[in-house]
Amino acid sequence: MAFNKRIKIKHLLDSGKVGEQVTLMGWVRTKRSNKNVAFIALNDGSTIHNYQVVADPNAISEDILKKVTTGACIKVQGEIVASQGSGQSTELTVKTIEILGEADPEKYPLQPKKHSLEFLREIAHLRMRTNTFGAVFRVRHALAFAVHKYFNDKGFFYIHTPIITASDAEGAGETFRVTTLDLKNPPLDEKGNIDYREDFFEREANLTVSGQLEGELAAMALSEIYTFGPTFRAENSNTTRHLAEFWMIEPEMAFYDAEDNQDLAENFLQYVISYALEYCKDDLDFLDKRAAEEDAGKKADQRSDMGLLERLQFVTQNDFERITYTEAIDILRNSKPNKKKKFNYLIEEWGADLQSEHERFLVENHFKKPVILTDYPKEIKSFYMKQNDDGKTVAAMDILFPGIGEIVGGSQREERLDKLTQRMDELDIPQEEMWWYLETRKFGATPHSGFGLGFERLVQFVTGMGNIRDVIAFPRTPGNVEF
Ligand code: ATP
Ligand code: MN
Repeated sequence: MAFNKRIKIKHLLDSGKVGEQVTLMGWVRTKRSNKNVAFIALNDGSTIHNYQVVADPNAISEDILKKVTTGACIKVQGEIVASQGSGQSTELTVKTIEILGEADPEKYPLQPKKHSLEFLREIAHLRMRTNTFGAVFRVRHALAFAVHKYFNDKGFFYIHTPIITASDAEGAGETFRVTTLDLKNPPLDEKGNIDYREDFFEREANLTVSGQLEGELAAMALSEIYTFGPTFRAENSNTTRHLAEFWMIEPEMAFYDAEDNQDLAENFLQYVISYALEYCKDDLDFLDKRAAEEDAGKKADQRSDMGLLERLQFVTQNDFERITYTEAIDILRNSKPNKKKKFNYLIEEWGADLQSEHERFLVENHFKKPVILTDYPKEIKSFYMKQNDDGKTVAAMDILFPGIGEIVGGSQREERLDKLTQRMDELDIPQEEMWWYLETRKFGATPHSGFGLGFERLVQFVTGMGNIRDVIAFPRTPGNVEF
């Protein structure tokens, strides 16, 4: 007989009927009991809601009931009855309880009390059993699903770009080396440098920092594609927005100019956020309250103007502000924090790179809505971005979100071979290594565009979690690779 004849708690809450006999399996959140009755709050992860299981201590062996403790995994069988308590409309009257896995209450680290997010990071192997992390990971799933649904419905094709690559031409960040060489005794070349010709790939290789370049190759054949895969950057920045391993979504489209690209990115972000609002209602209600409690503990000037749900609705219902880098610099130069020298990096001249304090000023104080910043100076952007006619700027776009800063980076790509190679020369990017990329500009080139969305930053925005380490199951950051 199959072991699993259980019904999920979500399903039970949606459509269970009084009088039905059901089997539930899940983890005990709490047990309250006296001589006559034991109330067990059971959670199986299918929903944020626990289901109330009611047992008669005189009908269940004492030995078993004793092992029903917080964290234990149990199988219960019984009948759905109308609940007499106020917290739920139905509950389960227990016929049998089976202990699937005990959890010694003296040793189980998760107690039915509030633990700090910092502490929970140290027990990442268990933290998904909390309401907060259960909610975060269900929302994360819904967003990932919405990403695929959005692109699939639009006729985009999902391309799996390589994780191991030989180029860091994009210069997006420090890379992680991939090697099978003996680090204690590496082969050396004539000059005494490590001889990568002896390595597995017979040249230097690293983990990918972006799938864009390969994505462009695919767009030159399938017209509209996207990638959604792991991305690695060995940036040694311990911020609340950076991971060493994160997931990036990179659509790339033939026949799109910069404006088409902006329209797509805006529509896409509004779609996936609306999807979460529609399908993750209970989890977002919980996260909305959690964020409000967290906010209440902050200083008045650091509290957000809107609650989480309000903010999500606002973003789906209002157009993003679109301004050029040049306009942004004017706003920033004349801003209060710049004049009063409150910024850590003062904005003095056109050409300055924008720091996250500037991005957040524009979004949170000035416009109070998402901002698409376009047409950056070419000096602070990548070689592959389309050069504008002014000779100074490129057709880049960054999308800035409240509380997050940059969530998307993208551009129209330079499809003119002469302009592209000239820029590569200026930046000392070797053309030989990029021969395959350059061939798309020789054979059937066309205007095309794309962007990269950091998936964890999106999950942060939607869940209201302040630290990126709390929206990925097992975060990798400098010094952290446990689990
Ligand atoms: P930042 O300036 O915030 O470091 P970036 O300019 O390096 O970002 P891009 O190279 O444009 O970012 O990457 C595209 C998107 O990937 C970013 O907009 C962001 O959402 C996400 N991203 C970049 N680096 C990281 C990281 N280390 N951890 C998580 N997400 C990241
Ligand atoms: Mn970066």
